[in-house]
Amino acid sequence: GRRPLVAGNWKMNGLRASIAVVEAVRNGLTPELGESTDVLICPPSTLIASCVAAAYGSPIAIGGQNLHAKPSGAFTGSISAEMLADLGASYVIVGHSERRAYHHETDDGVHAKALAARRAGLCGIICVGETKEEREEGRTLDIVRAQLAIGVPKGASARDTVIAYEPVWAIGTGLTPTPADIAEVHASLREMLGQLIGAEAQAVRILYGGSVKPSNARELMAVENVDGALVGGASLVAEDFLGIARAY
Ligand code: 13P
Repeated sequence: GRRPLVAGNWKMNGLRASIAVVEAVRNGLTPELGESTDVLICPPSTLIASCVAAAYGSPIAIGGQNLHAKPSGAFTGSISAEMLADLGASYVIVGHSERRAYHHETDDGVHAKALAARRAGLCGIICVGETKEEREEGRTLDIVRAQLAIGVPKGASARDTVIAYEPVWAIGTGLTPTPADIAEVHASLREMLGQLIGAEAQAVRILYGGSVKPSNARELMAVENVDGALVGGASLVAEDFLGIARAY
């Protein structure tokens, strides 16, 4: 079976005091939880090194929220996969809807970044999801399948790739799709992955993200083909994040 992954995306939140959140998650993780579930925290880049130190020797992995596709060069302000790996990060979020919306990231760009993550030995969490308008027009499956088809590199495997389905309209809104809607999208993504990478598709984890809270985590995580959660707001509070991790 696929090992669940509960991932926190802090987005542009957290000063040095927030390292205490990693410490609190570490203290709240029982050995059983640490053995059954992968737990990941993606802080802003400024906190990666100190979060890696705070998580050292625990089951908590630390990841980046974005990367540049090139390994190095004249790209002021950017951070490469190699730099993230050098800090001790093991995952990186690729193509989050906020990057797509505010930084004009394209599916081709996502593809290049996913390749860069693999090059550096990181696991890329490739995000897909439809807008409210696209859902209302009945285009959800077309949109997310196209994002996947272009974004996922050839030869992707469960070691280097995680998919996250995050409906744009569910992010930070308190709204979530119904379990039936999530099941439909995740089944379609798994089928599309099969076309792209064959039998390996069965091993790749597909997370759900968008307004996941302790109170809805159990219902959302029980949906077929949902292999974990990508958590925004609730990951900033250790008890809420732990509550979601315990939903498995
Ligand atoms: P929220 O959990 O705050 O809705 O954010 C989801 C998200 O975008 C995680 O990447």
